[in-house]
Amino acid sequence: MIKKPTATTPGQSTLSIWGGEQDYQLYERSTQVPVVHSVSYGYDDIDTWHKVALEEEPGHIYSRNTNPTVSVFENKVKALEQAEAATSFASGMAAISNIFGAFLKPGDRVVSIKDSYGGTNRLFTEFLPRLNIEVVLCDTLNHEEIEKRVREKCTMLYLESPTNPSLKITNIKKLAQVANECGALVVVDNTFATPINQKPLNLGADIVLHSASKYLGGHADALGGVACGSEKLIKKLYQYREINGATLAPMDAYSFIRGMKTLALRIERQNQSAMTIAHWLSQHPKVEQVNYPGLESHPNHDIAKEQMTGFGGMMSFSIIGGLDAIKKVLPKLKLAHMAANLGCVETVVGPPLTTSHVECTQEERAAAGIPEGLIRYSTGIEDVEDLLADLEQALSYA
Ligand SMILES: *Cc1c(COP(=O)(O)O)cnc(C)c1O
Repeated sequence: MIKKPTATTPGQSTLSIWGGEQDYQLYERSTQVPVVHSVSYGYDDIDTWHKVALEEEPGHIYSRNTNPTVSVFENKVKALEQAEAATSFASGMAAISNIFGAFLKPGDRVVSIKDSYGGTNRLFTEFLPRLNIEVVLCDTLNHEEIEKRVREKCTMLYLESPTNPSLKITNIKKLAQVANECGALVVVDNTFATPINQKPLNLGADIVLHSASKYLGGHADALGGVACGSEKLIKKLYQYREINGATLAPMDAYSFIRGMKTLALRIERQNQSAMTIAHWLSQHPKVEQVNYPGLESHPNHDIAKEQMTGFGGMMSFSIIGGLDAIKKVLPKLKLAHMAANLGCVETVVGPPLTTSHVECTQEERAAAGIPEGLIRYSTGIEDVEDLLADLEQALSYA
């Protein structure tokens, strides 16, 4: 067993490193969590096997259900989100679709925002209506409309803040309170903020979820998702996932455990660098608009300041000349991948056309208010001076 940390309320870096690992029975005194690739777990007697199967004793039966490596990852996220329980999934989208599968039935109504992640939006517009589940998508910044729709009828309020790629902010605390009064389940996608910058459960959400493929892992080398909440809700979700089969693979869980050791450290750096870059961009003559919740010019900067402890590494900005200009500028960046992911140690850039809104048509992007000439910028942990110099030289091609 690893020594238990002594501080009564460990800080975020301590939890990133030690969270979920204290109670783990280490293999052969290894200090690191091993990757358990076993599909099942053998027993010497039927009675013990039966007790574990009935969850009367701790242990594992079959890795579609639980796996020791995967459990450590879940417990680490649980510690950081200050939740009672957590369960994991094969991807962020698996987390989202399993939440819908576990908690919605025909005749229910989901209230959400127009700016949710492209894949989530696709579930809203195409797949849930097919199951006779009504979905009401409100203008993300119109809190009165969201409140009104929740009060009319709502089984689940589904929020995301900040949003992808416009970095809009919704008031989680205020809207969760209305939804709670109406008996609706409040679900928040916290992928962009991470538990380091925002804790939706403390703001009144019932379930918080992540695409672990982004910041939690942080190295763009593993796909997974995770959801946290009360014992009761997570048990229901786990029981659905266990049968549904969208299980996180042990090797990916290991990559997340390893990546998360530096989560607080990475986020701290990304918060700082993104703020510097957002300020710099907002003064650049070729830049039209910068969307970053840390800027005072951001329409919901006040709400962001209230519900976040840092503004994150994600921003988006548009440059003069639209899509044609970004086709010239982005390939010139030397310190950025042009790719669809985000939240990793390297800087990553791309337009919504090939990233967040690849599932949408040009008309749908226009209707969602997403300019074709927007650049989504995921700040990496490179030296900020180098990132600024790289942007400067690339922007000269606009
Ligand atoms: C990437 C992403 C998802 C989907 O996660 P995957 O792991 O790619 O399935 C969901 N929500 C947000 C905000 C994301 O950025």
